[in-house]
Amino acid sequence: MRRLLGEEKLRHRELDLLSYSYDSSFLTQTGDFRPDVIVVARSAADVAATVRYAHEHDVPVVPRGAGTGQTGGAVAARGGIVLDLSPLNRILELDADNLQVICEPGVVHADLNAFLAKRRLFFPPDPGSTKMCTVGGMAANNSRGMRAIKYGSTGDYVLGLDVILPSGETITTGSVGSRALQSSSGLDLTRLFVGSEGMLGVITRLRLKVLPLPASRGLVLAAFDVLEDSGKAVLAVFQAGVLPSAIEILDSSAIKAVNLYKPGLDLPAAEAVLLFELDGNKPGVAHDAQRVAEVVCQFTPRVRWADEPKQVAALWEGRSVVGAASGQVRPGATRVYAGEDICVPIARVPEALRGIQDISGKYETIVVTYGHIASGNLHAAPVIDMASAGERERVGYVAEEIHELALRLGGTVTGEHGVGLTRRAYMTREHGPALATMSLLKNALDPQGIMNPGKTFPE
Ligand SMILES: Cc1cc2nc3c(=O)[nH]c(=O)nc-3n(C[C@H](O)[C@H](O)[C@H](O)COP(=O)(O)OP(=O)(O)OC[C@H]3O[C@@H](n4cnc5c(N)ncnc54)[C@H](O)[C@@H]3O)c2cc1C
Repeated sequence: MRRLLGEEKLRHRELDLLSYSYDSSFLTQTGDFRPDVIVVARSAADVAATVRYAHEHDVPVVPRGAGTGQTGGAVAARGGIVLDLSPLNRILELDADNLQVICEPGVVHADLNAFLAKRRLFFPPDPGSTKMCTVGGMAANNSRGMRAIKYGSTGDYVLGLDVILPSGETITTGSVGSRALQSSSGLDLTRLFVGSEGMLGVITRLRLKVLPLPASRGLVLAAFDVLEDSGKAVLAVFQAGVLPSAIEILDSSAIKAVNLYKPGLDLPAAEAVLLFELDGNKPGVAHDAQRVAEVVCQFTPRVRWADEPKQVAALWEGRSVVGAASGQVRPGATRVYAGEDICVPIARVPEALRGIQDISGKYETIVVTYGHIASGNLHAAPVIDMASAGERERVGYVAEEIHELALRLGGTVTGEHGVGLTRRAYMTREHGPALATMSLLKNALDPQGIMNPGKTFPE
């Protein structure tokens, strides 16, 4: 590999191997996921050379963006090469007339949107990890975010990809040389690689659809004394014909966490707080915000709304900080990412929230819950003492029961974060015979099983 790539692109000191053995999942803090070597790619040619080497020598190769994934997807489950794509971070071309942008996989999501905002455009998927995660990682995980109810998933904006297959060959999906915004030509390989979690090939270039940036945003905040009323309010807003750009929920533990973290925000004490975001032109936003406030008033009198940017930002801040705030509910303890991404039918969100509270009680483990209620995607955040072996073990049961709850309610174990290592055990149950078809596709493209082995498919 030295001869092939040069020493400067390789990392193999113990500290490097250790650094690359984690992502944001709790799982990677509990085992040893060190690779044998890291390749820091500087070009698509480096990626192709690395994959060809892996193919020739039958060595595992694991693509990696920023390592913000929460499933162990970007770590080496079976040793081999971790391929760091973060230096491939150039925005190659903005084709504003055709509403698309071409970029390398290591571009950080927030950087892309800062670049687009200057041209009054935006790339709508909006993960909470925006300041860290890469667009390559987002496509590989089919990431979503708070605005998925209105704008959909990353996959909805991927028009085409350059992918280096496990054989080392490069293909372009979405029609070579096309600048069309849609296509019905051939099998949809773009969709196949989106969400494939680095198991079918390495993405080295993305053609992404962008949209005009909404001129204005408004926010409605409502506090509920009865958890179930929050679910009813969401359905009532949809039935009133309003489609907010986001609806977020904080349960009582999340409200407490935010108030401990930033007392100035002074979120109302309640069983649940909902935040409805509206976007569009200013008069339309004001109209919709008032309409949401009227509808929600049927369920609670505690409703506020704003459409001035500073007021909107102030109301939104509670939601923005909740991830970081979760650990505050127990001094000295840590929020861990386990069982953190279930998605249930929206009408069953209140049941899911109650269910999570029951699991929290059963295992005497604090679980702070918040998430994208509009699409039923809930983030449960167990808070544990990392020094306690008993608590580290118990959190595994908590995550397991939360996943079981999601399946029982007719949902899925992952709404946006993916499967990786942490949710393989549920794949047979979730997909039935369709899992064998997934396995056929994987084996057809990667018969040696070198591309991110050990992920998604149960052992
Ligand atoms: C605080 C926080 C908030 C988050 N909020 C959200 C959220 O709101 N919505 C959401 O969807 N996710 C969220 N996530 C999860 C995570 O940020 C996303 O899944 C993100 O898209 C991962 O990007 P990454 O660059 O870090 O990818 P990595 O973690 O490096 O990799 C993720 C997966 O993609 C594969 N991969 C990476 N790059 C490539 C490539 N170029 N080609 C092929 N495969 C590749 C890896 O092998 C791995 O399987 C959050 C994470 C954190 C820590």
